[in-house]
Amino acid sequence: MTVSRILAVKGRQVATVAPEQTLHEVSVLLSTQGIGALVVTDHDGRVTGIISERDVVRAVAKRGPQALGDMVALHMTERVVTAHERTTIDALMQKMTSGRFRHVPIVEGGRLQGLVSIGDVVHHRLQEFEAEQRALKDYIATA
Ligand code: AMP
Repeated sequence: MTVSRILAVKGRQVATVAPEQTLHEVSVLLSTQGIGALVVTDHDGRVTGIISERDVVRAVAKRGPQALGDMVALHMTERVVTAHERTTIDALMQKMTSGRFRHVPIVEGGRLQGLVSIGDVVHHRLQEFEAEQRALKDYIATA
């Protein structure tokens, strides 16, 4: 099973932010959209980084409330681990586990196609598990 299956269910909308926006703007976006990370894109829509709630917390812990006025570029992670639509969900989970992060942007030909979070993966796995349970119950009932 590949990442494209998850995108087909959740959609391809990705919340983004520009590198010159502030951490306060990031906090507002994360809070109002109920998400944990924003992909940082340049004027051409290319991925230049990722900033998550962890980065905001780390910045405020280090510099105090004034960090909220800092530019995203100062606190984002620049080396973003991405995946393709054809990446398997198992391989995506490996990337998250070994990199210790919960978000992976999906990129094709340099263009952002979606974002998969650990929550999306868990949701997908639960659906698979429930389908297996139903199939087993049906099998037992008809055997
Ligand atoms: P998260 O667990 O996604 O909140 O992120 C934890 C840390 O990893 C933060 O410093 C993020 O900027 C960074 N991070 C999140 N996603 C990725 C990714 N796909 N590639 C590289 N770093 C990431």
